[in-house]
Amino acid sequence: MTAFSLEGQVALVTGANTGIGQAIAVAMAQAGAEVIAAGRRDCDETLALMGSGRTMRLDFTDPMAARDVFAAERIDILVNNAGIIRREDAVEFSEADWDDVMDVNLKALFFTCQAFAKAALPRGRGKIVNIASLLSFQGGIRVPSYTASKHGVAGLTRLMANEWAARGLNVNAIAPGYIETNNTQALRADPDRSKSILERIPAGRWGKPEDIGQTAVFLAAPASDYVNGAVLNVDGGWLAR
Ligand code: NDP
Repeated sequence: MTAFSLEGQVALVTGANTGIGQAIAVAMAQAGAEVIAAGRRDCDETLALMGSGRTMRLDFTDPMAARDVFAAERIDILVNNAGIIRREDAVEFSEADWDDVMDVNLKALFFTCQAFAKAALPRGRGKIVNIASLLSFQGGIRVPSYTASKHGVAGLTRLMANEWAARGLNVNAIAPGYIETNNTQALRADPDRSKSILERIPAGRWGKPEDIGQTAVFLAAPASDYVNGAVLNVDGGWLAR
């Protein structure tokens, strides 16, 4: 077994039916974990790609739902991937779009981490991987609640690492750059936007969900035991510009 193996570990991935969550679930299964692919809908396609594991229907905006899951069985790795975005000028942005995004991206993430920690802290080990964004570092445009939520994810990741590192939990985040998923389909379909984004990426290509999957395996594996509170950008060099 290598330091990058997840053999014997149980991992729960939120929003695992598509995109980055699906790639993380598959990568973790390939690394040897028993993966629970969780989502508001069944994750049948993910289950087929994993070849083994389980799927679970769960809306993480209900904090009690997460609490029940972690109380019921030992889960070693939590990946908070579920996330949504709403686009509108800041001057017109609605309270409903603010609340929807904050509820999923920030509030559900925090209370899911809290529920996981209540179960994992007494065991003295566990790994949390939160999915942040380039907009955990940058302002962005026309996405006020998304930017606020993802800055919040970075801050909470550091806070939880501070509180729980000495008690055996590793809390880290990945900040993906521009990744080819449903989320970015509209951007990729716009030739001008797509070209200007590509020109700014030092690696010269958009990211693939698998690029994030492999990084998540590292942050869940023993290889990263001394990594705490990191917000690791996986962006083809975007932030290096
Ligand atoms: P997708 O839209 O493809 O996937 C989002 C996932 O979140 C879906 O599985 C969705 O489920 C799930 N989800 C949303 N709300 C809830 C909820 N209340 N309960 C459970 N699941 C929910 O997007 P990506 O794969 O691109 O995004 C995944 C993560 O990566 C997000 O946190 C996003 O912010 C982040 N990210 C993505 C980037 C990109 O370039 N693609 C860049 C930076 C960050 P359902 O299908 O049922 O709606």
